[in-house]
Amino acid sequence: MDDKKRLILVNRTHSIPSDWSDHLRLVSFQYKEELFFLEQETYNAFEGLRKKMLENRLILGVASAYRSSEEQKKLYEEMARDYGPEKAKTLCALPGHSEHETGLAVDIEMAMEASETQEELNYPSGYFYRCVHEHLSEYGFILRYPEGKEQITEYSFEPWHIRYVGNPHATIIMKQNLALEEYLEEQKQFLQI
Ligand SMILES: [Zn+2]
Repeated sequence: MDDKKRLILVNRTHSIPSDWSDHLRLVSFQYKEELFFLEQETYNAFEGLRKKMLENRLILGVASAYRSSEEQKKLYEEMARDYGPEKAKTLCALPGHSEHETGLAVDIEMAMEASETQEELNYPSGYFYRCVHEHLSEYGFILRYPEGKEQITEYSFEPWHIRYVGNPHATIIMKQNLALEEYLEEQKQFLQI
C-alpha cells in the first residue's frame, strides 16, 4: 500500500473511490466466533497493537472491521427503517461514505469476561481507551473522530473507531491532536495526494 491509499479520505463529503475494492488485499481473522476482514497492512499493524495491549493485560477486541458496500448499505437501511432517514444519517454513514469500507478502520472493544469493573474500564475516558490511545500511533493508527473535532469530522467523539494511516503520519497526527482532515489540508503542499 502506498501513502495515497494509507491517507485516503472518506467522510460525509468524500466517498470511497469506485475502484477501491479492486486493489484491496483483505486478510480474514476470527474473534468471538465471528469472521472479520481487514486490509493486509492494517491487519499486521492491528496485531502489533493487540500484542502491545496484552503486555498491559488488556485484550483488544473487535466490534467491527471491514464492511463491503453491500453491508454498509444494509446497515444504513436498517437504521433508516428503525429511526427514519434523518436520524439514521447521524448514526451511520451513507453507503460509500464509511471508513469501514476501506478496510483501514476498526471499531475496538475491550474483550474480557463481564466483571464489575468492566463498565468503568471500558468507559470512553477509562483505563482501556486511555491505554489503547496512548499506543495507537506506534502502530500507525489514529483516532479518527477525536474529542473536540466534531465540527471538522462531522462525527461525535468515537473512542473506539481507529484508523490506520501508517507512519510518520500517525505519530504527527496524534502528537498534534489533529483530525485527519486537518492533517491532509496541512500536507497538501508536500504530499502528492
Ligand atoms: Zn467505526
